[in-house]
Amino acid sequence: MEISNTYIESFIQPRSELLLEMEKYAQEHHVPIMQLSAIDVLNQLLRIQKPSSILEIGTAIGYSALRMASTLPECTIVTVERDSERVSLAKQFIARSETANRITVIEGDALEVDVESIQSAFDAVFIDAAKGQYMRFFEKYSPLVPSGGILYIDNMYMHGLTDLDIKEVPRRKRTMIRNLKTFADWIMAHPDYDSTFFPVGDGLLICLKR
Ligand code: SAH
Ligand code: MG
Repeated sequence: MEISNTYIESFIQPRSELLLEMEKYAQEHHVPIMQLSAIDVLNQLLRIQKPSSILEIGTAIGYSALRMASTLPECTIVTVERDSERVSLAKQFIARSETANRITVIEGDALEVDVESIQSAFDAVFIDAAKGQYMRFFEKYSPLVPSGGILYIDNMYMHGLTDLDIKEVPRRKRTMIRNLKTFADWIMAHPDYDSTFFPVGDGLLICLKR
């Protein structure tokens, strides 16, 4: 039987005017913000984990950063985005929220910026940027996470493309999908992490550091 999310989605809570405006902007401008049901799962995991700091790779317009910050009233968030137009939008949206003083947006390529000069450790890292680079993001940022910390990684399904035989994947996306699958194989076998897929949204991977 085909499972529909309609029932579960009927429980998604109403959101502030600001968040609705951001959702509308994202939809109209094709900004790939996280799906609402996946954000709810991520936020619930964060309530359980109770991180006091989160590093986010891939701010876009600041939607997930705002959602995480309002879920965890004490938590600070550092978030990295390379697209300058999105950075300026994110800063404007975040400035209008009550959580602005806890969110720092860094403009730059996450593979190049010096996050450590701002903060050297994070209880949680949320990776939601270029899908072909996940291994590199992970290698760069996982050392900042202590034992017991968690890396949350979005889009492991890549809209269903990871389900296909590589020959069925459009040619221009093959390298990205190969990289993503190599990363999945590597992290699932990694002795320092207990990792599990959460089949929500576009596929959320949770890596708990031993
Ligand atoms: N986390 C956001 C959505 C992020 S979309 C939310 O759910 O609200 C992915 C973003 O990652 C895009 O805006 C893209 O510009 C950014 N990105 C991709 N590769 C990056 C990199 N190497 N460094 C920084 N940002 C990157
Ligand atoms: Mg995503």
